[in-house]
Amino acid sequence: MNTTFQDDKPVTSSLLIMGYEVVIGFETHAQLSTQSKIFSRAPTVFGAEPNTQACAVDLALPGTLPVMNKGAVERAIEFGLAVGSHIAERSIFARKNYFYPDLPKGYQISQFEIPVVQGGAVEFYLGDEKKSVRLVRAHLEEDAGKSLHEDFIGQTGIDLNRAGTPLLEIVTEPDMRSTAEAVAYAKELHKIVTWIGICDGNMQEGSFRCDANVSVRKPGAALGTRREIKNLNSFKFMQQAIDYEIRWQIEELEDGRAIEQATVLFNPDTGETRAMRTKEDAADYRYFPDPDLPPLVIAREWVERVRSEMTELPRVMAQRFVTDYGLSDYDATTLTQSREVAAYFEAAAQACGQPKLVGNWIMGEVSRRLNLAEADISACPITPAQLAQLVSRIQDGTISNNAARQVLDVLWSAPEGTVDAVIEAKSLKQMNDTGALEKIVDAVLAANPKNVAEFRAGNAKALNALVGQIMKGSQGKANPQQVNALLLQKLA
Ligand code: ADP
Ligand code: MG
Repeated sequence: MNTTFQDDKPVTSSLLIMGYEVVIGFETHAQLSTQSKIFSRAPTVFGAEPNTQACAVDLALPGTLPVMNKGAVERAIEFGLAVGSHIAERSIFARKNYFYPDLPKGYQISQFEIPVVQGGAVEFYLGDEKKSVRLVRAHLEEDAGKSLHEDFIGQTGIDLNRAGTPLLEIVTEPDMRSTAEAVAYAKELHKIVTWIGICDGNMQEGSFRCDANVSVRKPGAALGTRREIKNLNSFKFMQQAIDYEIRWQIEELEDGRAIEQATVLFNPDTGETRAMRTKEDAADYRYFPDPDLPPLVIAREWVERVRSEMTELPRVMAQRFVTDYGLSDYDATTLTQSREVAAYFEAAAQACGQPKLVGNWIMGEVSRRLNLAEADISACPITPAQLAQLVSRIQDGTISNNAARQVLDVLWSAPEGTVDAVIEAKSLKQMNDTGALEKIVDAVLAANPKNVAEFRAGNAKALNALVGQIMKGSQGKANPQQVNALLLQKLA
């Protein structure tokens, strides 16, 4: 394997915690969404009766031979292309030897010295700062079975259904410098694998499992000893676990104790991390090339075919939203958080020709309502066509933003209606009759001499009170811009 170098870059002091710099690297296991196992034709469906879908190959029974699943390789290629990696022309499967009850065959087939995906980077925004986390590699491997701890009978059962399920292990350089950056990286990686459809991303079912390697050091010092937090299966736990681990390591060092390299588990009930075992080194696994599998050879034509069939990537799409629709970089990134949101945005934007307004409504009012309902855009009761219609009615002055929110509320619970019908039924039309508006303005000015005097004396805020009165007088139907203009005209 090539030597990996660390950048010769000074540390930004703003990230220091009690004088320590945090260093984080991730290893993520993404379960590839193939129908059958990585080296056999047994099915990969989640949740089957224990021990009903592991076959002789998955258990490496004598006389069986593994055969590479083309779908798993294709997904690895797709991932590599999505993050700008080199796809190895020739990579090698190796046996990683260890014994554990859920791995009765005594070794896991993985890739060691020559992985299929090499290099690349994951780019994302942390607030409005652009970050890039370099990848070392991504390699194909098989999953092990599962230990089921039946606490109520004090026994542990073994379910081998998961044995041989294809995984892509994605390894980063130790590039992250804060918990927030690590969580943002994990979210971006999750977005990429689900966007290109190589992994269902279901964290609860273990389809996307993150191991966070965490260390701390004084600025400028060599890398500190790391501890690896295993199997973080929600973003919330990830954040809690890394935060706890950082504090724990700093306290140990401050108390004069050295950090020992270890694998730790996060306990969501206590919010603490606890050492599970002192970490094995690669040498402990006695890796050697698997004699049952030939090298994985990937022809360049295959890579090019996969590239030509790949869906538009989030970063590319976000860039297109900036150039085609004039969105800000930030808005474009937000609206490409998932393919569904992006498709919804594009459909509505094209239907009404108001991309910025459509974007604001999706990121604002629509998201807020979806969050409250704990639903995502696929469950949104408002169609893109309806949102486009709503935005058109704001744009052409028929309704105010406030009235549009009311229309949204009505349609949210009765989505079969149309925007125009709701505007009509609730008489939400903005007052565009200047004569009628003028009457209200005059009446309000006459009734509020104090505010008028204050405004004339230079208190700009006094205008707000007057606008409020006029809006009230028009039952919210006056056009606020028009009200403002009229008022300024009359008070000049
Ligand atoms: P191993 O082979 O033992 O798994 P690697 O060198 O492959 O170790 O590193 C595993 C992960 O740990 C990588 O994501 C890497 O970026 C990260 N890592 C390595 N050293 C450190 C460190 N000192 N602090 C934090 N993360 C680290
Ligand atoms: Mg490793």
